[in-house]
Amino acid sequence: MTGDMGSTPVRQAIVTRFAPSPTGRLHLGHAWSAIRAYDFARARGGRFLLRIEDIDTTRSRPEHVETILADLAWLGLSWDGPVIFQSERMALYADAVERLKARRLVYPCFCTRADIAAASVAAPHGSEPVYPGTCRGSDASGRMGEPHCWRLDMAAAPSGPLVWHDATAGQVACDAFAQGDVVIARKDVAASYHLAVTIDDASQDVTDVVRGVDLFAATHVHRLLQALLCLPTPRYHHHPLLTGADGERLAKRHGAPTLAAMRERGDDGRALADRLRAGIGNRGLRS
Ligand code: GLU
Repeated sequence: MTGDMGSTPVRQAIVTRFAPSPTGRLHLGHAWSAIRAYDFARARGGRFLLRIEDIDTTRSRPEHVETILADLAWLGLSWDGPVIFQSERMALYADAVERLKARRLVYPCFCTRADIAAASVAAPHGSEPVYPGTCRGSDASGRMGEPHCWRLDMAAAPSGPLVWHDATAGQVACDAFAQGDVVIARKDVAASYHLAVTIDDASQDVTDVVRGVDLFAATHVHRLLQALLCLPTPRYHHHPLLTGADGERLAKRHGAPTLAAMRERGDDGRALADRLRAGIGNRGLRS
């Protein structure tokens, strides 16, 4: 390459993604999140990717994937490039787990859910208890034939002062330690949500992660994993969650209709998307 590149700032093309888990039907909250990620990219001439987070083979269903694709098309959202399936990328995640094992940053954990619940300080309603560290440092040599997951040893992770950026919160000091020793590879799957999402956002060159504020705390873990695996850090845009008139988060369990139900009864998806944009749609997301 010739010429003086030094004075020309390189503008990185914007890439966002929507990353649903096909464990059920999408609801309005998903639509809201997908629209925000889509609009963010499109308004900047960027790319919008669709990634199916289906590492949980016991709960993921192909019919939910079909429904997700139909729902997005109904909302008027089109994605760029092929749809990525995490279930096809397990070798990549397993390789990262091996690298973390070699550096003794993960340890095997044999605890059951009941063990963890019994040993944990009460967790806030609806959230997973923070793992109390029962298996950390224990001799597992005779037990490796037993079912076990792999957990990140937060105390051993040489993180240093890490920061990440959120469009609303500004610069955030990374505090992964508070999340406890999170699961990196599950008992039944050679990866976890935290690991797969971090690797994929990097390998898909995602520049801006647009997702609900319910995943704000998880970002501390993702930022630490980026540091440990030498991956780039995207910008984050954690948006408020859609709530109903009662202030409760809109989710299936509250009886909100699924997108598929609205589509099947003949509602206009593009009009719904525009209503979301015009209503709560313009609050919160800053460039
Ligand atoms: N797959 C996750 C979910 O459906 C979202 C992951 C993410 O946006 O980082 O909740």
